[in-house]
Amino acid sequence: MTNTTRQVIFAKRPRGWVSDDCFEIRDVAIPELADGDVLVRNIYMSVDPYMRGRMNDAKSYAAGFELGKVMQCGAIGEVVKSRNDKIPEGTVVTGMLNWETYTLVKGGDGLMPVDPKAAPLPYYISVLGMPGFTAWYGLLKIGEPKAGETVYVSAASGAVGQVVGQIAKIRGATVIGSAGSDDKCAYVTEKCGYDACFNYKTVDSYAKALHEHCPKGIDVYFENVGGKMLDAVLTVLNQHSRIALCGLISQYNLTEPEGIKYVQSLLINKVRLQGFIISDHYDLFPEFVNDVAGWLKSGQMTYRLSVAEGIDNAPGAFIGMLKGENFGKQVVKLGDDPYAA
Ligand code: NDP
Repeated sequence: MTNTTRQVIFAKRPRGWVSDDCFEIRDVAIPELADGDVLVRNIYMSVDPYMRGRMNDAKSYAAGFELGKVMQCGAIGEVVKSRNDKIPEGTVVTGMLNWETYTLVKGGDGLMPVDPKAAPLPYYISVLGMPGFTAWYGLLKIGEPKAGETVYVSAASGAVGQVVGQIAKIRGATVIGSAGSDDKCAYVTEKCGYDACFNYKTVDSYAKALHEHCPKGIDVYFENVGGKMLDAVLTVLNQHSRIALCGLISQYNLTEPEGIKYVQSLLINKVRLQGFIISDHYDLFPEFVNDVAGWLKSGQMTYRLSVAEGIDNAPGAFIGMLKGENFGKQVVKLGDDPYAA
């Protein structure tokens, strides 16, 4: 086994769009393990939109990345060395690890063992992990869709969006999506059961497209993008509709946020708009896993991944995801997956 780990270092704060020079790649020696420590060989890591916020020098719900230090991420890997009786060598674990090939975890803190034979490994950091949980929580606990209502989902083919639409269909809603390419729209309608999806990059007007696709108005908006899309949605909302404000990806790389004009819609339609941060809700994680693992097993749910290869390609995968180059949940494969079918 190698005695070095290859890491992605946070080298420069972006202003506006993230560029390659925000990252540096280096090999460093793996430290010796102390009592309680484990060494994880990372197999897949996740790149997520929230990481863009952590690159800013601004107060947010999660601590920022530190310049000159290795970046953090959700990841799954196998324990290759252990001085911790509770997490022996060979255990497959998920947790907040690093953008690197091997991570030494002090005291094994925060690691969660998973059954590597119950699902493909990348699922534990996607549909059965944080993004799937975000979709489940935001839709069911905030959106609260009822059968026959219209649910609209932006970034519909992404890590979160593809799960939102499928759960909304299971709950009997009419589900409309938007995505950034015709292929992505075809995926959500043909594979995820969305009733319709429009390519927001080719329509004349977001509001016009929404009025056409949601003739009965919108009852639940699962908000992933913000900006002009949110403004357009405000013109199509029904009385007592709900907005689960999950993310605002169209704004993350702007130096000045866009304004919202149609706020009065929230008042006159008595709309409930609620932001949420999924890390506050992990008490509900077992309920989520029970639901989503069941739907995957019964074939009621499908999931699409976008897999980049190798730690050196992690920065590019992250930047590409922010630009919409991912088709499905973006993960990076860092090493051999002994459980791959
Ligand atoms: P995705 O897998 O959906 O990837 C991001 C997608 O955003 C891109 O593929 C692209 O898809 C779309 N996008 C990028 N720029 C724009 C733009 N200007 N306008 C419209 N769409 C754009 O990411 P996730 O599913 O992981 O995340 C989706 C949202 O959920 C994000 O806003 C994220 O911050 C949020 N989130 C919030 C959490 C919480 O706790 N509140 C937890 C996890 C995620 P396309 O080609 O369709 O444009």
